[in-house]
Amino acid sequence: MAIIIDGKELAKKIRSNLKIECQELIKKGIQPKLAVIMVGDDSASKVYVRNKSRACKEVGVEYEEYLLGSDITQKELIDLIHKLNEDKKVNGILLQSPIPSHLDINEAFREISYKKDVDGFNPINVGKLLLNQDTFISCTPYGIMKMFEEYNIDLEGKNVVIIGRSNIVGKPLMACCLNNHATVTICHSRTKELAEKTKNADILIAAIGKAKFVKADMVKEGAIVIDVGINRDENQKLTGDVDFENVKEKASYITPVPGGVGPMTIAMLMNNVIKATIQQNSENNKI
Ligand code: NAD
Repeated sequence: MAIIIDGKELAKKIRSNLKIECQELIKKGIQPKLAVIMVGDDSASKVYVRNKSRACKEVGVEYEEYLLGSDITQKELIDLIHKLNEDKKVNGILLQSPIPSHLDINEAFREISYKKDVDGFNPINVGKLLLNQDTFISCTPYGIMKMFEEYNIDLEGKNVVIIGRSNIVGKPLMACCLNNHATVTICHSRTKELAEKTKNADILIAAIGKAKFVKADMVKEGAIVIDVGINRDENQKLTGDVDFENVKEKASYITPVPGGVGPMTIAMLMNNVIKATIQQNSENNKI
């Protein structure tokens, strides 16, 4: 029976440490601030944005939300990003995905100043991550790395298999694991004989978006299993990409959904906002 990695508790600890850092900044007259842009009214996005605003409140980060109609033009979106880039009071900018398909999200991520890119999606920051340079690491992979650190899971020489190659999870996660000396295999919808690959994993990370996709017979005995997925099962219950009840009998460590990777993602967003605030102010010699 696996040890359950408690992302909820670890995220709480990270937020309370960040709250102290935030208070120190406020004492120096520096108020960290996050601007969140949401386009349209995707229901899952609304929940994520609400959780982010709650975390800001708890840590002491000022939070500003821009809710844009789904008929907004690309130019209007980019103009807003430019305005926020220029605004000295704003330290972090986050564009909540997905956005309507007539808009170019890649251009939008590119236009967010890499110094305020707390989600780590600007190509400059993605490139720095690949080169193992200091950067804003995107929040979900960063949260997973923090979990490994907290549970003394050393990646060196381990076979890590990631299912999912998205720009926001799978690819940056691949770079994080590689930077920590793991041997990384990245699988996706066109991978052949997936189970043969996953059964070789010392650490298996699922970021697919399909409820209970990873079954116990795809997992090696004693593997560490990280579940990024957020799905609804047939009873509308929140569930991950891993068949938790059966896989937990075989794994050595496993993350639950909810209460695993999700809260860590938001804690690392707070971490990145504080980091951005400190960097911007030290550039201006304010600290
Ligand atoms: P995505 O749709 O962009 O990517 C999914 C990936 O899964 C793709 O690379 C695809 O090739 C792969 N895939 C799909 N079907 C497959 C199959 N049959 N076999 C192998 N690979 C397959 O999704 P994403 O944005 O990376 O998110 C993945 C999941 O993680 C979603 O459930 C999302 O809600 C969740 N998510 C959670 C957090 C968090 O904080 N916990 C953050 C981001 C995303």
